[in-house]
Amino acid sequence: MKLILANPRGFCAGVNMAIESLERALEVYGTPLYVYHEIVHNRHVVERFRGRGVVFVDHIDQIPHGATVLYSAHGVAPAIRQASVQRNLRAIDATCPLVTKVHLEAVRFAREGYTIVLIGHEGHDEVVGTMGEAPQAIRLVQDAADVAALDLPADARVAYLTQTTLSVDDAEVIVAALRRRYPQAVGPHRDDICYATQNRQEAVKELVPEVDAVIVLGSQNSSNSLRLAELASSHGKPAYLVDSVHEVPDGALAGAASVLITAGASAPEEVVQECVEVLRNRYGATVESRVVREEHVNFPLPRELRLIAG
Ligand code: SF4
Repeated sequence: MKLILANPRGFCAGVNMAIESLERALEVYGTPLYVYHEIVHNRHVVERFRGRGVVFVDHIDQIPHGATVLYSAHGVAPAIRQASVQRNLRAIDATCPLVTKVHLEAVRFAREGYTIVLIGHEGHDEVVGTMGEAPQAIRLVQDAADVAALDLPADARVAYLTQTTLSVDDAEVIVAALRRRYPQAVGPHRDDICYATQNRQEAVKELVPEVDAVIVLGSQNSSNSLRLAELASSHGKPAYLVDSVHEVPDGALAGAASVLITAGASAPEEVVQECVEVLRNRYGATVESRVVREEHVNFPLPRELRLIAG
């Protein structure tokens, strides 16, 4: 068996920043320390912090008055920030700057009188946060059928935005459907799908023809990881989205001469290395690392923590 390791894979700049922020906040403030939603959508990361006393909550009123809260990489709606102020919380904002960019676009389009069509997945933390910026002005669509069902007049002032972790190919189809119905629709200056999502998808697309199966390390609620598994499946290859190699069904790889290994933007490199070790031992696999694109992106810590560090 040959293992092909996709590059880039795993942690993106936003996830690195969010995890470092939580580490730093633990150092500075200790526990109890609260995080609104999962800091990133990865079981290992969340469990590790939970083991160190971090409490993850889905509602601000679960946090005691005056405590410290971190907002996750996926961002929050303004109503959550207000609720934190009312509870007198010390808030640290670890929202990925690329999510914040989408929030700012939503605010700008709403202010300019557009109806915003947000392409994204209902209920995802990021989508909930973005919609909260202009709830009256935003319509969520998940596919081309949702675009067909929009009840906006033909000459409506329409703008569109996308969740950062969509499938590049699916988003293109939905934007094309929107532009067919509303040729006047305007979009963001640059694509909202983030560099990390695009690069990880590009690597899978390029390498998947060479392999018999694909392992995507990531959690089931990680949007960008799910998209990688779907992408591999759409090329006719069996794809396994797992938190750890031990979750790959028994015998699933027995007949595979080559396996592509990648990881979603919130999956730690340790789980990739564990996967490689297990497959090496089990099948005598050789390993080849393939770089499809270089990444050199870093985001600074949130302002609240930079001030303390400075
Ligand atoms: S996947 Fe993209 S948008 Fe999400 S945290 Fe990473 S860089 Fe930011």
